[in-house]
Amino acid sequence: MSVSANLETVRAAIRRAEAAGGRPEGEVRLVAVSKTHGAEIVREALDAGQRIFGENRVQEAQGKWPELQAACADIELHLIGPLQSNKAAAAVALFDVIETVDREKIAREIAKEMAAQQKSLQLFVQVNTGGEAQKAGIAPEDTRPFLALCRDELGLTISGLMCIPPVDENPGPHFALLKKLADENGLARVSMGMSGDYETAIALGATDVRVGSAIFGARDYSG
Ligand SMILES: *Cc1c(COP(=O)(O)O)cnc(C)c1O
Repeated sequence: MSVSANLETVRAAIRRAEAAGGRPEGEVRLVAVSKTHGAEIVREALDAGQRIFGENRVQEAQGKWPELQAACADIELHLIGPLQSNKAAAAVALFDVIETVDREKIAREIAKEMAAQQKSLQLFVQVNTGGEAQKAGIAPEDTRPFLALCRDELGLTISGLMCIPPVDENPGPHFALLKKLADENGLARVSMGMSGDYETAIALGATDVRVGSAIFGARDYSG
């Protein structure tokens, strides 16, 4: 299947899930996750009208995106992987959205860099809904105090919450928890759902779904 045909399939499924959930058509944003794929295949998605993309590594994105961004003005690039403080300057320069704000230190670095670069990014706080030791994200019960810190001490506007449920669990309860936390904290955006479960995520309130392999095919990590 081609990237454009895959995109059409995913877009149609999103529209169906929106309709089934009584959501306005076009409310859910499709973040096309292009990690590990080269600029050539990304161009196929751009040609098919896709403008919102996700990458999980700053360094990989730095090698791929500046040229594409120069050629296409309305790309919206999301960082969906963990951010180290020594990459904060590069991330703020390259990305439009950071979905993985997950600790005070990185929130401070982002605030500092946005001021220094006079650039305002949309920000999501990542929540570790499964309480997994190896996974990034704040604990669900820390959501309110962490949002208060971002807002009151750092002057950051947080647009929404993001989660990656444990791979071996039914994602539904994690999606429901993230949506509940977003509602309780007055946040409009909820980033959840990947290739295998984005329709479930939309049914449970996702506004941003991050879909990779269903659009670009399987990833090859061997090279
Ligand atoms: C890779 C990745 C995705 C996309 O995963 P697919 O299963 O290929 O759709 C979504 N979110 C994050 C955070 C990822 O790292």
